[in-house]
Amino acid sequence: MKAAVVTSLGSPLEIMERDVPEPGPGQVLVHMETSGLCHTDIHAAHGDWPVKPTPPFVPGHEGVGRVAKLGAGVTNRSVGDRVAIAWLGYACGHCDHCIAGWETLCEQQHNSGYSIDGSFAEYAVADATYVVPVPDAVSSFDAAPLTCAGVTTYKAIKVARIKPSERVVVSGIGGLGHLAVQYARLVGAEVIAVDILDEKLQLAQELGADHVVNAATTDPAAAIAELGGADVAIALAADPRSFEQAFASLRRGGRLVCVGLPPESDGPMSLPIFQTVLFGISVIGSIVGTRQDLAEVFRLHELGRTRVVAERRKIDEVNAAIDDVLAGRTSARLVFEY
Ligand code: NAD
Ligand code: ZN
Ligand code: ZN
Repeated sequence: MKAAVVTSLGSPLEIMERDVPEPGPGQVLVHMETSGLCHTDIHAAHGDWPVKPTPPFVPGHEGVGRVAKLGAGVTNRSVGDRVAIAWLGYACGHCDHCIAGWETLCEQQHNSGYSIDGSFAEYAVADATYVVPVPDAVSSFDAAPLTCAGVTTYKAIKVARIKPSERVVVSGIGGLGHLAVQYARLVGAEVIAVDILDEKLQLAQELGADHVVNAATTDPAAAIAELGGADVAIALAADPRSFEQAFASLRRGGRLVCVGLPPESDGPMSLPIFQTVLFGISVIGSIVGTRQDLAEVFRLHELGRTRVVAERRKIDEVNAAIDDVLAGRTSARLVFEY
């Protein structure tokens, strides 16, 4: 099978022929149809974060395909089922986090395309319990971006506990942000989109943003203060300064939801203690979402409540695709079709 492989951190991916993997006990073999390119895959290939993946590995955690083979003991999936392979590739199922509905915090978790091989290949093995069924009405093309960009921003909106009519900043209108704008609208928020590219802001407006701010030309905190300040700011860009700007755009009682994961070399974000305390600000970290969150994301899409904006690419063009994402030359998401 063809696979895009990271052979050393920071080098271009190599397209190579690999043996089709065998599903072990409790696993399924998935014949991939689509896979989205998440900015996380780029961080993985570059070794941007404190915990680094070990080459060689296959990135990809927005994989959608059909079950081609069952490993020993698998009874909850059948050959032919269409499933999604998300970032949460495996969790233990019995620790306090897993039991409490926070499987995304499990200390035993495996992450697709990071600690285990992911979906940038014609086939991937995945844990049968952690793949998520894709409803017939959701195309494999749309299901791919929903599998990470969708579930992650849907969860961020949930943990922000947004009330209808609250003012919500979405900072970074890329793969994640274009869906965040829509989920914020669905819970009744007034939405302010922030990016550094006008084309992204235009897309945000088409998707329902009430206001847009170009952070490359305008101080977003000042512009948002003029609108009355934000109740919630969701930081999605891979730039620590944008987190600080998102924080500074909050009004009293505001919540900063941290989702973007800038490279460690960009340094930490710096938050003022005084304003955090006196203004009663909450700072919330949010990591992807659960299988149940993803099922809800698919259901919303099935109901026609969300629109996925994406472009098709071939896996052979993976390095050019990465360059395009880094340069902002994409509408919102790139999806590889196999
Ligand atoms: P993307 O490249 O598709 O989008 C990033 C957007 O941010 C682009 O539109 C870019 O123009 C914009 N941007 C860049 N600098 C900015 C700034 N200073 N202010 C405002 N906007 C700015 O990336 P993506 O796939 O949407 O991922 C975004 C980040 O989220 C990445 O760091 C990724 O690793 C992370 N991520 C986190 C989770 C999680 O669970 N917490 C899940 C998926 C992705
Ligand atoms: Zn992702
Ligand atoms: Zn667990």
